[in-house]
Amino acid sequence: MPDAMTLQRRIVVPAGHGRAFEVKRGEILRLTQQAGPQVIDFNAWNRENPREMFWAGRTRIIEGAHPTAGARLWSVEPWMRPMFTILVDTADRAPSRRGSRFHDLWYPRCNRRYHQEFFGESDRRSCHRNLTEAIAEFGLGEEYVHDTFNVFMRTGLDPETQTFFAEAADSRPTDYMDLRAEMDCLVALSACPGHTAPTINDVIAEVYRTSP
Ligand SMILES: [Zn+2]
Repeated sequence: MPDAMTLQRRIVVPAGHGRAFEVKRGEILRLTQQAGPQVIDFNAWNRENPREMFWAGRTRIIEGAHPTAGARLWSVEPWMRPMFTILVDTADRAPSRRGSRFHDLWYPRCNRRYHQEFFGESDRRSCHRNLTEAIAEFGLGEEYVHDTFNVFMRTGLDPETQTFFAEAADSRPTDYMDLRAEMDCLVALSACPGHTAPTINDVIAEVYRTSP
């Protein structure tokens, strides 16, 4: 018998923007695609000590570049502990024809200077800005933004050139990912406004408590 899940909070992240919120240890964070395909840039901090934050680079080595159910999201040294465990992932695991797969740990969050220097766009919002704005209300500055877990982002590595590529997210409206918090966390999400894998949808996150 699976645990019963009771909805505690529902967070809507408006398209192209960011939001931050708390998830308590044992609660389930559900990231959904109800509003349509959308890359979700994810950051997390230990609620008690925000210097302990998510470590995309180490998690990539331990769990692989495209984490799915069973994978854990690890925090930085000197703690290096699981912050979240992915319980459910309904996104298609098959690679695209070009070889991309869902959920990315290769790409960092998009940022203003990147948009400007490489695409000539100085007005476009960025995940770095979205995450910065989102955590300000919790008293955290820009220096707490870190490399992201990019949920529902399709990426691959070209075997010839050894360069990364992204393809448009094409997840289904019913797709979701459930993550169990392994410690009290602050989470920030950005509905990515970048053009690497362009999408324009809201992100809908739900926080559940479980009871046997
Ligand atoms: Zn982005």
